[in-house]
Amino acid sequence: MKTKIVATIGPSSDNFDTLSEMAAQGMDVCRLNFSHGSHEVHLKVIEYIDQINKIQNNYVAVLADLQGPKIRLGALENENVQLKEGDHIRLVTYEVAGNRERISIRYEAFATDVKAGDQVLIDDGKIALRVIETNGKDEVLLKAETNAVVEARKGVNLPDTSISLPSLTKKDLDDLDFLLQQDIQWIALSFVRSADDIHALRSIIEANQKANKPGIIAKIEKPQAVANIEAIVDAADGIMIARGDLGVEIPMEQVPMIQKRIIQLCQQKGKPVIVATQMMEAMISSIRPTRAEVSDVANSVLDGADALMLSGETSMGKYPVETIRIMQQIINQIEGYEAIYYRHEMPEDPTHPRFISDSVLFAASNMAQSTNASAIIISTHTGYSATRLAAHRPKARLFAFSGNVFVLRKMNLLWGVYGFHDSSLDEAGKLMDHLNQLLIEGGQLRKGDRVIHVLSTPTWSKGHSNTIRLGNL
Ligand code: PGA
Ligand code: MN
Repeated sequence: MKTKIVATIGPSSDNFDTLSEMAAQGMDVCRLNFSHGSHEVHLKVIEYIDQINKIQNNYVAVLADLQGPKIRLGALENENVQLKEGDHIRLVTYEVAGNRERISIRYEAFATDVKAGDQVLIDDGKIALRVIETNGKDEVLLKAETNAVVEARKGVNLPDTSISLPSLTKKDLDDLDFLLQQDIQWIALSFVRSADDIHALRSIIEANQKANKPGIIAKIEKPQAVANIEAIVDAADGIMIARGDLGVEIPMEQVPMIQKRIIQLCQQKGKPVIVATQMMEAMISSIRPTRAEVSDVANSVLDGADALMLSGETSMGKYPVETIRIMQQIINQIEGYEAIYYRHEMPEDPTHPRFISDSVLFAASNMAQSTNASAIIISTHTGYSATRLAAHRPKARLFAFSGNVFVLRKMNLLWGVYGFHDSSLDEAGKLMDHLNQLLIEGGQLRKGDRVIHVLSTPTWSKGHSNTIRLGNL
């Protein structure tokens, strides 16, 4: 089992029993979606996961997903507003009960940011409008490009517009305030446009006093993010290919190749990457996925994603546990295919501050391939070595030991990495023998297995990986 599963928690799954079963069936990371739900409910889930980890002796991580600058319509006078192709309507930035004439949009600078000709997409792109003119203040006149039924509070996408909203809204700052008091391993930011959006979030996280800092996941769902992808991957600790909004903001037929390109880039740069949205959508209401969905899950594993994400399937669907079980089954099947393994590339930049450890980790992966080793065993302080090693996609199993439970949970998102809690020995030779013993006793390895140890000597120092040992147990 290499590819990890991220499951979004919602009304169908935010109870202890369902979460327990989901963890037992293969949920590696649970995602709290801050576009929905109260802090109270999110806190309850965080506490349940802590309890379940203790009971199941597991390290399920928590990923909190911030809403970011998502734009929505306001309320309507009646249930909906029906438009015919060619009809005119105004979107206004003041509050009105929406009707055939005008509907509110919750985006103050809308009339100054848009220009004639910009596309305005509503409700996941189902409704397309185009800007005719703006008064530059608070009203924009648009023409419907299709027949449409507009409902209250639907989401709005503006693929052509350079949106002046800050990357972190007031709501995001409130949510962050709450989150930074909890043990959260990953924070995702929606509608990222540039590396600066990541830096802004980073500076807030860094200003917090806690020793254990969450990693930042940049959600790629805007054309600007695709254009700035290299800088964003460098700035973030991980990437989510958020295909839902991405497929609205750019032509949807471009999404499959963008998925492949971003996964490849993340592997090169040693950053985990999540493929998200509509992976098993049919299972929101059906006990089986469509065959096309099975293929999508399989292809995402073949592309080399670290993790696959479930949204509505586990948050509001009828079969949250069954969805994870079937996704795990598909993953297991596809991981039997050899071509997904060993994608290591030699580190090239000798001036990189991690050049020595990167070279040692590359060599470990290379050696695992040439010696057909069962496992690579690492002792990691920050999780960096595990992240780099996972990016090489070794077929050998990856056992990562750390004395820090937060780091073990954070690593649970990474392709193929399984954490173990230990920091008891301080001398290299004894430590390696001790870790072997733990893995044999735990049933992960057997006498005679070929293993590679990667560590930094002196051990448990905060140093970088500098040593490899190859041997049979
Ligand atoms: P969301 O992000 O579910 O928060 O919208 C994922 C996506 O857009 O695909
Ligand atoms: Mn989205």
